[in-house]
Amino acid sequence: MSGALARITNELTADLMYDLVLPIGHSPLVQRRRAILIISRVRWVAMTFAVLTPLWIVVDMMMFPWPLWGILTALRVGATVTFAAIALGFRNTERMRSALTALAFLLAVPCLFFLISVPSLANFKLTALQQVFASGYAFLPFVMVAGLAVFPITAVEGAVLATPLILSQLGVALLGFPVEPFNYYLGALWLLTLLAVVATLAGMSQLHFMTQLVNQAAHDGLTRAYTRRVGEELLDVQFNSSQRSGLPLAIAFLDLDHFKSVNDRFGHEEGDKTLKRAADSFRKVLRRGDIVVRWGGEEFIIMMPNTTGVGALNAILRLRELGLGDRPDGEPQTASIGVAEMVEDKSSDWSDLVELADKRMYKAKKSGRDRVVTLGEEMVTATAPPTAAAPTTPVDVAAS
Ligand code: GH3
Ligand code: MG
Ligand code: MG
Repeated sequence: MSGALARITNELTADLMYDLVLPIGHSPLVQRRRAILIISRVRWVAMTFAVLTPLWIVVDMMMFPWPLWGILTALRVGATVTFAAIALGFRNTERMRSALTALAFLLAVPCLFFLISVPSLANFKLTALQQVFASGYAFLPFVMVAGLAVFPITAVEGAVLATPLILSQLGVALLGFPVEPFNYYLGALWLLTLLAVVATLAGMSQLHFMTQLVNQAAHDGLTRAYTRRVGEELLDVQFNSSQRSGLPLAIAFLDLDHFKSVNDRFGHEEGDKTLKRAADSFRKVLRRGDIVVRWGGEEFIIMMPNTTGVGALNAILRLRELGLGDRPDGEPQTASIGVAEMVEDKSSDWSDLVELADKRMYKAKKSGRDRVVTLGEEMVTATAPPTAAAPTTPVDVAAS
């Protein structure tokens, strides 16, 4: 029992809670998968409702007097057209904003339907049997709030999406729907709110599950860096968003030096440990938004959004200062590194940028290894960034 409890509290880190409550701060990969999942479910639900909504017209015609069934039929036709438009009009998207817009539209249709149909029904004197069928309309907000459970959403999104549905339940009282007995009405409102909380919790657990799956599949088991397949996806996303915003995007291509000899001399297992030590040291130096990808066996790409060529070189020099861990014989493991930056290098796409960094890495290799080739093909062999305390360049001296 206490073991299970410990597991739960271990899992519920502050970061995780933050990600489950607020939609900001999700990794681009999670955002992308979430958008794809939400939009596909919105389209499925919209398509299902587009088929089911008109079928009920026959029942309304048989149950209700004219002009009531006429009003309801007009509403159903309108809803059917809108559902079909949502199912067909929204393209599959990888952007969260479009996915949430589609979801908001999907919820708005029954919300409006409810706000018009229920007061209309209230204007007619219905028999007991007719009232049974009329109550189906009154259940609409409950159905929609419960439906939120199928979407991977955060707590805030659940609250924002459920609020109009709860407000419409409140609103019918103002629009003339009979709310007597009043305690029943209040009870229904209370139930709707509870349902919104439970559905949001279900949506959050969907989000949690989805995030875990995405993260597990995205990382290489040995180094915990992103896999190449996911790395390419992230490069694509990041390149496009940096281009849109006009911000720089730097990458470093890093290949460990003489790595084959670690395997040859000390065995594959020691090789694995050395590789893991190198990857661990990246994480100590890099910023939270930086992304490490295991591009090949002992090759890595470090993606640094919103970082200039100079900034990237500084980060790489900090990495060189810290070191990449030791080889099994105690010698430091070194690497040859190429740096490129989207804006200054005028890259037209991400593969162009990677190719350039790779070429510079190769140049560093050819020129003797354990060094960096950066923008303008400049070769850097320093093992530490220049510090403010000990200025190493004439520029620093002149500036002080
Ligand atoms: P260079 O300085 O020119 O880069 O020499 P190198 O030996 O590092 O380059 P090479 O590409 O010839 O060899 C890379 C080696 O990395 C080959 C392979 O045995 C090893 N390697 C790749 N992936 C792994 C891994 O997951 N574990 C281990 N232990 N070794 C790996
Ligand atoms: Mg290699
Ligand atoms: Mg190598």
